[in-house]
Amino acid sequence: MQNTCVPASRGGCPPCAALQTLTVTAARLAASLPQCIASFVGASDQNLGHLETQVAQQAQELLRHATETAAQQKADTTPPRCPVCGQSLSRGSTGHARTFETRFGSITVRRGRGYCKRCRKWRCPADTALGLEETAGYSPAVPAMAALVATKMPVAEASLVLERLTGVKLPRATLDREARRQGERAQALRRPLDAQATAPPPWEPAQLALSLAPYQMILQIDAWNIRARDDWGATAALRRKGQEPARGHWVYTGTVFRLDHRGRTAGGRPVITERGFVATRQGIDGLRQQLHAEALRRGLGQAAGVLIIADGAVWIWRLAEDRFPQARQRLDYYHAVQHLAVVGRAVFGEDQAQFRAWLKPLAQQLKNESAVKVIRQLEDLLQRLPAGTSAEEVVAREVNYFHEHEARMDYRAGQRRGEPIGSGPVEATCRQSQCRFKRTGQFWSQRGEEALLCLAMLWRNGRWHLLFPHVPHFDPARN
Ligand SMILES: [Zn+2]
Repeated sequence: MQNTCVPASRGGCPPCAALQTLTVTAARLAASLPQCIASFVGASDQNLGHLETQVAQQAQELLRHATETAAQQKADTTPPRCPVCGQSLSRGSTGHARTFETRFGSITVRRGRGYCKRCRKWRCPADTALGLEETAGYSPAVPAMAALVATKMPVAEASLVLERLTGVKLPRATLDREARRQGERAQALRRPLDAQATAPPPWEPAQLALSLAPYQMILQIDAWNIRARDDWGATAALRRKGQEPARGHWVYTGTVFRLDHRGRTAGGRPVITERGFVATRQGIDGLRQQLHAEALRRGLGQAAGVLIIADGAVWIWRLAEDRFPQARQRLDYYHAVQHLAVVGRAVFGEDQAQFRAWLKPLAQQLKNESAVKVIRQLEDLLQRLPAGTSAEEVVAREVNYFHEHEARMDYRAGQRRGEPIGSGPVEATCRQSQCRFKRTGQFWSQRGEEALLCLAMLWRNGRWHLLFPHVPHFDPARN
């Protein structure tokens, strides 16, 4: 460890010598730039993009060298204590080289090593100080980049895009492995975060509520199907046991936001400035727990009221009654209209003009007047249909559907209160996930996919910095 500087006349000290070498690299770069600029200015076939590429390439060695120098100095000044228990290390030795990839290229750091008598393990305290994981040959910035691109696109593409944009070369298999590992870290982080959110608050919620303007909390829930490969290769064995292999799994999705966080951009585009997202393959139970925690984080505990908007799926309303018993429930208006359309098609068949002339005013009545009025007209229609026909069967089923959801179709009152009547935001959330997770030819294992979904949600919820502390805090939902 070097704390005091030895004068150059007596051979100099390693940190100063390292900084001098770095200065030489910087000077070499500074000297090469004028020539680079001159050849760019003189080349009629080069635009600024050519210069940007060249300058970035030339500066790369300086950045790599600076990173290596800094990492070495940090390693040299890390006290020889166990990073787990704090005990002083014994049997210490120095100069243990470790080479790993950073975002500027490969660097080598020589670290000290010692034995912790309390943990009974050999330790390299510098590795902890630098944030190097136990096994991966990468600096912390690289896995963070791998994780992000892997949540946005298939790994083969992600590997190419990453190299094009940053120069970091991560082969497809390595990128896949790194993204999964980070996904598993994200899941390990989610558990305590959710537990913390659902634990009773240390303060009195009633006192806090007084200081806030009352707001409504909106929850939207949906699910979509994904192909999976959990049973790959086991088809024959399963069939012998009389079971059909599952070829699809549900991704349960929810979004949560405060009504007063809904607004419009200057251009008139509707936006929600702050919102939480949940997407999980851990079944309805997983969704119930994660959505509840997310809603609490977004202010459920202090909300004046809660409104749940979803389609007609039975499991959604069961979940709502179980976890959010005080919440008002609303059937997505557009799903209700689809059910009106089913009636229309059963009655009018291929006659498009009649179908439209019937549907439009009814859909308007449902939206601006009352569900009771619409149901009465459906019942009148049912009365007039000949018994035993398929049309009668369809309309009878739909009349039941409307009766079942009657209390969830208060669209007029909802609009008056400025509340959404459709589940557009959660459907948009599903679509965005589907772009990544539901591409043709892709099959996923449940474990791999839950890890990636967890990463994707960590990003969307603006909590990326909790997993990667070097990344500045920001919220993608605000953009
Ligand atoms: Zn220890």
